[in-house]
Amino acid sequence: MNYFPNTGRYSKMQYRRCGNSGIKLPLISLGLWHNFGEIDDLENCRKILQTAFDNGITHFDLANNYGPPPGAAEETFGKIFKNNFKKVRDELIISTKAGYTMWDGPYGDFGSKKYLVASLDQSLKRMGLDYVDIFYHHRPDPDTPLEETMSALDLMVKQGKTLYIGISNYKATDAKKAIKILKELGTPCLIHQARYSMFDRWVEEELLDVLGKEKVGCITFSSLAQGLLTNKYLNGIPKNSRAGRNLKNGAITGAQITEEVIKKVKSLNDLAKKRDQSLAQMALAWILKDDRITSVILGASKPAQITDAINAIKNGNFSKEELDKIEAILKK
Ligand code: NDP
Repeated sequence: MNYFPNTGRYSKMQYRRCGNSGIKLPLISLGLWHNFGEIDDLENCRKILQTAFDNGITHFDLANNYGPPPGAAEETFGKIFKNNFKKVRDELIISTKAGYTMWDGPYGDFGSKKYLVASLDQSLKRMGLDYVDIFYHHRPDPDTPLEETMSALDLMVKQGKTLYIGISNYKATDAKKAIKILKELGTPCLIHQARYSMFDRWVEEELLDVLGKEKVGCITFSSLAQGLLTNKYLNGIPKNSRAGRNLKNGAITGAQITEEVIKKVKSLNDLAKKRDQSLAQMALAWILKDDRITSVILGASKPAQITDAINAIKNGNFSKEELDKIEAILKK
């Protein structure tokens, strides 16, 4: 099955520099947390990845535990990469992570050097890659000294197994400490991966200021609140939606889709219509209006969601009235 990427792909996307590094990322990246497990259709996965790349999405985000079962998303990606993307490897930024439970015993979780080094080796095998572009520590470890975790990341760069390193889900204080240690080790922190959406704004308190000041990139996830900030749940919970599929491991559940939330989503949807955007587009544009955000990682269960979402970059301007209206809806 030959895949010939769209030759016009780079004119469809905009790219933003990640902190003060040499790397630019697409405003919209693609994440493989859901929809790439053993339960998912391989052909659909292939189409999603091809649609993304054909639209200038050069960055695919994975983690050791994405599936289900854990490891399956990297395996799926590896299968598709081999036959479709190997020839364009140098046009791709591929990331993976470790930090959540991966195997039994004391060495398969959190942030020891033992776990992180072994996990990256396993990820490379599953994906059929010689190296990843970004390796993240996926979540802070309350027990392992930060120095040990950061020196493991530094080691991976020195070994050539990853080009850049990042941290994810670190609060501002820990992020500041990690960034400092990495600077001293001579391996700067490229990027922080954090949850950020209209419904979850913790990064605005301090983290974005820290990253802006330190010139570290920020890439956001669940910026559509796992599909809630789209028109999907306006009239109930579709069976084939993430909430309707009753998935585990942090996936949105029906219980989170309350009447109160849907009232807000409806008002946001009306505002998006006035802006000639889908709600998904407006929710992504709202994140990207802050230039400290390098990229938003989108999740997609079908190719059409990508072609819809990328139109977010066509209208990234918000008037004061629109911003005030969004604040008023969110506060209600
Ligand atoms: P989103 O908030 O983008 O949710 C994705 C879901 O939204 C899709 O599966 C789909 O739902 C729905 N959707 C997407 N586009 C549209 C559209 N245009 N119209 C209607 N519905 C749409 O992000 P995720 O929560 O999936 O996270 C994205 C990525 O971020 C992950 O894949 C992962 O790479 C990363 N991540 C990182 C974490 C970390 O700890 N570092 C944690 C979580 C995610 P449906 O399936 O119902 O069709």
